[in-house]
Amino acid sequence: MCPKCVSDDISIREYDFGPCQQTGYRDAGEWFTCRACGAEGDVGELERGLAARRATFASSG
Ligand SMILES: [Zn+2]
Repeated sequence: MCPKCVSDDISIREYDFGPCQQTGYRDAGEWFTCRACGAEGDVGELERGLAARRATFASSG
């Protein structure tokens, strides 16, 4: 679910840039693109959007 427009029309693709030259850590993961509003970011953002939505529901009763 898109954290900006709350659309479910999201495409997710894996990325892998290999080891970072500065940190040595592997720069890889999953990246989402919202087809509704064009927002994109790490898939972790999607889970944060879900948590925020649940909190809203809980507070509204
Ligand atoms: Zn969106």
